[in-house]
Amino acid sequence: MRKPIIAGNWKMNKTKSEAVSFVQEVKNSIPSASKVEAIVCSPDLFLDALVQEAQGTDLKIAAQNMHFEDNGAFTGETSPAALKDLGVEYVVIGHSERRDMFGETDESVNKKVKAALSHGLTPIICVGETLEEREANKTNDVVTTQVKGALEGLSESDVQKTVVAYEPVWAIGTGKTASSEDANETCGVIREVLSNTFSADTADAVQIQYGGSVKPANIEDLLGQQDIDGALVGGASLEADSFLKLVEAGN
Ligand code: PEP
Repeated sequence: MRKPIIAGNWKMNKTKSEAVSFVQEVKNSIPSASKVEAIVCSPDLFLDALVQEAQGTDLKIAAQNMHFEDNGAFTGETSPAALKDLGVEYVVIGHSERRDMFGETDESVNKKVKAALSHGLTPIICVGETLEEREANKTNDVVTTQVKGALEGLSESDVQKTVVAYEPVWAIGTGKTASSEDANETCGVIREVLSNTFSADTADAVQIQYGGSVKPANIEDLLGQQDIDGALVGGASLEADSFLKLVEAGN
């Protein structure tokens, strides 16, 4: 049985004091034995403080990106070893904003996924089509290429430790959500790719989230879909009460 994940992606928002206040507000409101995994994806600057603040609770802390090397001359980057040392458990890899604005490719995503796993971090691998690709009926091809590219060369047991987030680019931060049926269909395509490339057991094990303008008003519909195992949420994760509503919807 796959446990759904509600992950709040703050992007480049909040100051340290705002971030810590958020965690103080939500950490004890996550139901014990929660039916969903609750995660906050924070800017690197606050990770240390947030891991400390969330210790002993059911709230998990994630990074939004990392480099694939352990150390070296990579000015401004953060290494997987450093994230692990802080007590971070998850890391978002290949978010469409990073693919679009910071030159991430399926190849760099693959390197980062391997590096994350080798340090015991769980990668949340983002895939999804642009509006142009959707209108050209290329959605399935795009997500298939991205999923295969991200997981290239991984063992089956490693693939089972990953999370995939299907995030249609046209739905991110736009207020446009894929219908829950459309989102479920593409998550199903991703599961089929996992089954054909690895095995049915692996496809069964991997949590596949949907992301793109998820909010309290549409989360229940999305969580009710067979192939959707939670959500990666930007805007609606910034306020504690909205984040908690998303978590409550899964409980
Ligand atoms: C995201 O940042 O991954 C995202 C899905 O953003 P939003 O929920 O704001 O569309």
